[in-house]
Amino acid sequence: MPRMKKTMIEEVPKKKTSRGKKEIITVTGMRDILPQDQKYWQAVYNSTKKIANDYGYGLIDTPILEYAELYVKSTGKQTDLVEKEMYSFTDQGGDFLAARPEGTPGVVRAYIQHGMVNLPQPVKMFYHGPMFRHEKPQTGRYRQLHQAGFEAIGEDGPTLDAQLILMGYNIMNDLGVDVVVQVNSIGCVNCREEYKKALVKYYKQHSKVLCENCLLRMNKNPMRLLDCKELGCQPIKEEAPQILDYLDDDCKKHFMKVLEYLDELNLPYNLNPRIVRGLDYYNRTVFEYWSADDIEGKSALGGGGRFDGLVELMGGRENTPACGFSLGVDRVVAKLREKETIVPDDYQPDIFFAQLGESAKKQAIVLYESLRKKFKMSQAFYKDSLKAQLESANRFKVKYCLILGQKEVNEDTIMLRDMNGGVQEIIGLGKLEAELIKRLEKYTSEDGVEIIDTDETRAALVSKKRPHTQERDTEENNLDDIGDLSSGFTAIEDEVEAGTPDDY
Ligand code: AMP
Repeated sequence: MPRMKKTMIEEVPKKKTSRGKKEIITVTGMRDILPQDQKYWQAVYNSTKKIANDYGYGLIDTPILEYAELYVKSTGKQTDLVEKEMYSFTDQGGDFLAARPEGTPGVVRAYIQHGMVNLPQPVKMFYHGPMFRHEKPQTGRYRQLHQAGFEAIGEDGPTLDAQLILMGYNIMNDLGVDVVVQVNSIGCVNCREEYKKALVKYYKQHSKVLCENCLLRMNKNPMRLLDCKELGCQPIKEEAPQILDYLDDDCKKHFMKVLEYLDELNLPYNLNPRIVRGLDYYNRTVFEYWSADDIEGKSALGGGGRFDGLVELMGGRENTPACGFSLGVDRVVAKLREKETIVPDDYQPDIFFAQLGESAKKQAIVLYESLRKKFKMSQAFYKDSLKAQLESANRFKVKYCLILGQKEVNEDTIMLRDMNGGVQEIIGLGKLEAELIKRLEKYTSEDGVEIIDTDETRAALVSKKRPHTQERDTEENNLDDIGDLSSGFTAIEDEVEAGTPDDY
């Protein structure tokens, strides 16, 4: 590891804690995704994975660090992404590297590097993970952002464009996020040459009122003039010449076909001549996903388009067409939370296993090993107090609690408590798995989908509760410090709330 300068360490911004100590905190624009928030992220990844499977896209992981030249060459030297936002540095060996600002260049590099041109085309891949952009941090704009993206390389037909647009739409739809797809065509290099001239000519007439960025873009990257979000430039943008009027016959035909397929699919889209996308490699079809309530597209949820020249530009085979898109996972997650969408939680256990006494603990840790393979389980075997264990069960909001005490060990039984209503029964260990399967069935809908356990569904289920077989008093079974368990779970809750949990 290189020797760090002392000043470098001291300059790290620190937060003063209530105890007067200084703690190192996250880098500006970067954040932790905590365990309790993971379910939203997993919901997005599960949904992208499902769509990837449905349409035959294979997962690819590319390195987070690549040679900076990859992005300079592909994304474009004069794009904001490369010029202003790329995290780049020279490493200890003298290599000039960059933390990936986007996913497409890495996937194209991998396609070329691994000779995927020899595979049946198109080669369809998807990815997800963090990207890094040194942008001004604000809501919905992070310096470590997360994207899920899809790329199909080696096919030029308009069906592919339409299908990719549909895939992103389907992901949003499956997640319950209402989007309107914004579609445009920016034609090929030839169409754009003519168009850029017309655009610059038009903007020059208004140069006195343009923002600083637009003045720069006029010379450096005229297409980006249409990306400007400055209020003062909006009326000028509104009246600007439209690229669609400059498309040559082939580009026009391609685009008309894409729109025909979208019409056929009844997919809600808006033909938006202002969508140009900021990167150099795009051509022909370009699109973005805007939330239905984001009329101006200030916070697009994703976007993509064709990049027919990129493979060749990066040293791959000539004329290798391609198309793809990426979704901004941070923003999709924010939408799910804003809409209070209920998402399944992979880590939500169904059953908590509590034990009391040394021999019960020994049997419990062994029994748990077979149960965890068949059920979503949780436990706190390191705790001795039953009260503390039940508090954990309560926090997990499990459906059932298994309780093993000395008497149960002696009799080869276990106590099963239905947490939605507090009924408890003694079950022979031999029948336990079958009983649990049967009882968990009531949380599965008729079409086999798991019913998400919320406070409302709990309340509904309590009223549907089945009659129990053998309710009993706990004391006779040696579960001495179980206290008021037999008088209902509320009693345990009260008791737990009143006391201080020992080691949780
Ligand atoms: P892009 O790669 O710029 O086309 O971005 C694709 C999607 O990623 C956008 O539509 C956003 O949803 C998301 N995105 C881009 N930049 C950021 C950022 N700095 N923070 C959070 N999400 C972002």
